[in-house]
Formats: sequence, C-alpha cells, structure tokens
Amino acid sequence: MAIIRKKPTTLPALWPNAGIEKSYRKALIKLLNQISDEVNQVLVTEFRKRAAQEKAQMAMDGIVDWVAHIVDFLASKWSDRLAPEIAEAFVSKTVTNYESLLKTHMRKAGFTVRFQITPYQREALQATIENNVGEIKSFASQYLERVQKQVWQCVTSGYDLSGLATELEKNYDISKRRAELIARDQGAKAHAVIECAKRQELGITKAIWLHSHRSKKPRQSHLQANGKVFEVSKGMYLDGEWVQPGMLINCRCGSKSIIDGIGQ
Ligand SMILES: [Zn+2]
Repeated sequence: MAIIRKKPTTLPALWPNAGIEKSYRKALIKLLNQISDEVNQVLVTEFRKRAAQEKAQMAMDGIVDWVAHIVDFLASKWSDRLAPEIAEAFVSKTVTNYESLLKTHMRKAGFTVRFQITPYQREALQATIENNVGEIKSFASQYLERVQKQVWQCVTSGYDLSGLATELEKNYDISKRRAELIARDQGAKAHAVIECAKRQELGITKAIWLHSHRSKKPRQSHLQANGKVFEVSKGMYLDGEWVQPGMLINCRCGSKSIIDGIGQ
C-alpha cells in the first residue's frame, strides 16, 4: 500500500495592518497636540508675561529652573498617563486582528484553532507593551526637550518671541513626522512579535521568508532570503544575527506559515 504524503500547506502571509498603524499614529499626534497646546498656553503665555515685566532682569537661573519644572510637569501629566493607555490599545488591537486573520486562514486550510496563550507568550506581549510605552514617552520627552532649548535660545537672544513661535512650530513638525516613523516601525515590530508568539502557540514551527519588495533600499540579505524556509523559534540568520521578518527598522519583509503535520 502506497503511503500518500500530503504536500505541506502554506498559509497566506499576514502583513502589518495599515488601519491599526493609522490609529496609533493618530493617538501619538493627539498626545503631541495636547502637550503642545499646553506648551503654548502655560509656558509661552506665562513666559511672555514674565518677559514683558522683567525683561532681561529676570534671573537666567530662575528661568531655566522654571522651564524645566513646567517641562517635567507636562511630561508626567500627559505622557506618563497616556503612554500605557495608547500602548495597550495598540498591542491589543494588533493581537485581535492577527488572531482573527490567522484563524480564518487556518479554517480555510481545514484546521480549527483555539488560542491559549502561554506564560512565555504573555511575557513577550508584556515586553512589547513596555517597549512601546518607552517609545511613546521618549517621543513626548524629545519634543519637550527641544521646547526647553528653544525657550533658552529665546532668552539668550533677548526675548525674541516671534522667533520662539517659529521655532516651536518647526519643533512640532519634527515630532509629527517622527510620529509617522514610530507608527510604521512599531506597527511592524508588534506584528512580528505577535506573529512569532501565535505561531508557537499553534505549534507552527516553520515559515517561508517573503521579501515584500516595498522598501526603497532593501537589505540584500533579506532579498536573498525570499522564499527560504526558517525556524519560527529562531528566525533567519542574516548579516550576523537571528532576525524575524519585519523586526528590523524599515524591514517590510513578511512570511508564510507552513502548517504541515500540525493539529492533525
Ligand atoms: Zn527585510
């Protein structure tokens, strides 16, 4: 009797969700708007008053301390409170979206799945959230650090308030562009971590690397990895390190799960 070997089934690749990235970017910009509104209301208005009253007589040390105090206050008021909220919503949306797509593809391939997260995977998700909280906080604090420098420059240039307004606008634009980069980068990273965790959860051990051909400057090693099989637990050994698709900055690579021999 001949043994019929089924060819391994591959699932379609799942890519980072553009809608989730967009809503994450919007959340970052909303946070930036809240902080910059307060910078304008509290810091700039008050600064203008003081500048008018005291002109150059105001002690330089006094101004530096005062600005530093406001900057700290705004950082803790906005980013400390909102960063965990934004990060948790973002990671949980990424998980739900990934699970539902994976489930659909598995069902089409003839498998029923129930997700049961292990402590190890819970830790991976927690680490993703924490890493994300750090990104959001540094996003806010970089903006505020520049505010601090700009106010200082305004003082040393003899209270050039219109110059300060222009500088603050530039600062805002820098952060806005940064929000786009962070959203794309974090969107891809969270997707990669969750993909890895979900595959391990379902016992999917191998996947096929796919180069998306969407990067302007693709890494040569990633181009060459296209179509090659890798171990989900390790990733692919490229340029001297083990990496998962989509994990490195600007890496738009993905992969297809191989589901041969599981759950049957
Ligand atoms: Zn890549």
